[in-house]
Amino acid sequence: MKQPVFNVQKHQASRLHYDFRLEIGGVLKSWAIPKGPSLDPAMKRLAVQVDDHDLDYADFEGVIEEGQYGAGPVLVWDTGWFEPLRAARAGQTAESMLRAGKLDFILHGQRLKGRFSLVQMKGKPRQWLLVKQRDNEARPGHDITEEYQTSVLTGRSIEDLERESTAGTLKTYRCGR
Ligand code: MN
Repeated sequence: MKQPVFNVQKHQASRLHYDFRLEIGGVLKSWAIPKGPSLDPAMKRLAVQVDDHDLDYADFEGVIEEGQYGAGPVLVWDTGWFEPLRAARAGQTAESMLRAGKLDFILHGQRLKGRFSLVQMKGKPRQWLLVKQRDNEARPGHDITEEYQTSVLTGRSIEDLERESTAGTLKTYRCGR
């Protein structure tokens, strides 16, 4: 069986953010994280749920044109798969956990690994917190978005994409699955 997709796109729209996506129910459930993900369990990162995306958007890397929603460069910052941690109760799925406002999962990315939780904030349905759980992959005090700034697929930075776009040499990456 194919494992559900996980990915993170670094997106320089009007504001820099990281789009965190999990394949749930045949779509990419998506959250925009202004400060990006963290491997430090002390960091609770605001993750604003945004519209679902099609699965084939997971590896889009390029520049969204002016005038389009989210105009600006997008690079694939991490990619892999994830494993929902089902509660002991029978019948729990990623979808039902999402509806209940708390999803625990293991990420198998190239940069993000180990146990994480997404927890919905009370009274704010679109606002969630992404938190690293304590395990062997946790790195207290470490800033993973500082360590890795470029595309995990092509090594390009946001500035590289802007430069290529201006020069008319931009290679858009979208292999699909
Ligand atoms: Mn975005």
